[in-house]
Amino acid sequence: DRITVALIFGGVSSEHDVSCLTAGGVTRAIDSERFDVVGIGITPSGRWVQVPLADMRAMEVVDDRLPRLDEGRPEASVFRGTNGGGRVATLDGDRLSDVHDFDVAFALLHGPFGEDGTIQGLFEMLGIRYVGSGVAASANGMDKDIMKRQLMGAGLSVSPWVTITKAAWDANPGRLLDKCSADLSFPLYVKPARAGSSMGISRVTGPADLPAAIHAAQQHDPKVLVEEGLVGVREIELSVLGVTGGRPRVSIAGEILVHTDDAFYDYEAKYTPDERVTLQIPADVSPALLSRMQRVAATAFNSLDCEGLARVDLFVTEDDDVVVNEINTMPGFTRTSMYPSLWAASGLAYPDLIAALVQLALERPMGLR
Ligand code: ATP
Ligand code: MG
Ligand code: MG
Ligand code: MG
Repeated sequence: DRITVALIFGGVSSEHDVSCLTAGGVTRAIDSERFDVVGIGITPSGRWVQVPLADMRAMEVVDDRLPRLDEGRPEASVFRGTNGGGRVATLDGDRLSDVHDFDVAFALLHGPFGEDGTIQGLFEMLGIRYVGSGVAASANGMDKDIMKRQLMGAGLSVSPWVTITKAAWDANPGRLLDKCSADLSFPLYVKPARAGSSMGISRVTGPADLPAAIHAAQQHDPKVLVEEGLVGVREIELSVLGVTGGRPRVSIAGEILVHTDDAFYDYEAKYTPDERVTLQIPADVSPALLSRMQRVAATAFNSLDCEGLARVDLFVTEDDDVVVNEINTMPGFTRTSMYPSLWAASGLAYPDLIAALVQLALERPMGLR
């Protein structure tokens, strides 16, 4: 039986463009013998719109520019469908038009209002099946402060950090700056608590630059993390794929090679060709280290109650100690992104990966699990 997948993409977060790029990639790659696609975009201002297939397929990088959704389309809405599916329709005055039913939703959204449990909550309320982690795992995975505490609770190592809420910062910034300098050693990484694609992240080498870095991160999220930077570590990522009723599968490892001392895996390095940072798949690691990292990745996935998919980002020290940087419940998902590339190198091609994720969503029980 053919399955109709609603691809939901765009969104109001700073990763809108990346999400559009992913939606184009998935639409072009999805196995058209088995699946039909319904395109549901969320514009940068938060309006839901229907996007025809031809427009979905056309979303690509053109002249180094990522695709974006324009605001000009009529507003649409999502409703409860039948048998755990959903329905999307365009609002035409008092009437509904352009009505499409779908079997399962796949939210290709990154960042707040998409990767963070909010849209997952909408699907739960409407009884619509969806790909990936549930409400709590999505919310906890998005917030680096909560995520680190969950990982530590599972016995995994994370780098030391100080969390700065907007209220605490406004009340006494000097005390927080002193605490960061006293508790953490430089370089520091200053990050929005709930963002991705390295948006709003700065590397800070001394106390003088810390206030500006905190302000920059606060532009993305009122909650900010100041984290101790690990020096001389390797940066390794693994992909995790849920298995119905069993231990998740973990891919082989990929490495991010940073070729200059002051560079890191920032937004430019992620989405535009960059000679400062290159990816190596598979990472050159011993079988023993690989299996240790795979266990860490599976433990990280389970510690947050993740489902479906996640990419686990690790640091490996000179002594081969494994430190978890973060987990991403909706990792970059274009054909050339790390998550699908690691699966392709592990024997699961992009179209088959998409099919496997949809299959997991269809098999998952509805409601509390
Ligand atoms: P994404 O979700 O796209 O992977 P993100 O925005 O969630 O990214 P992080 O992965 O936390 O951000 O950090 C971005 C990059 O900054 C890392 O890939 C790494 O290069 C560097 N980095 C972050 N934290 C540290 C740290 N504690 N020590 C050393 N490098 C770090
Ligand atoms: Mg992340
Ligand atoms: Mg992310
Ligand atoms: Mg990361």
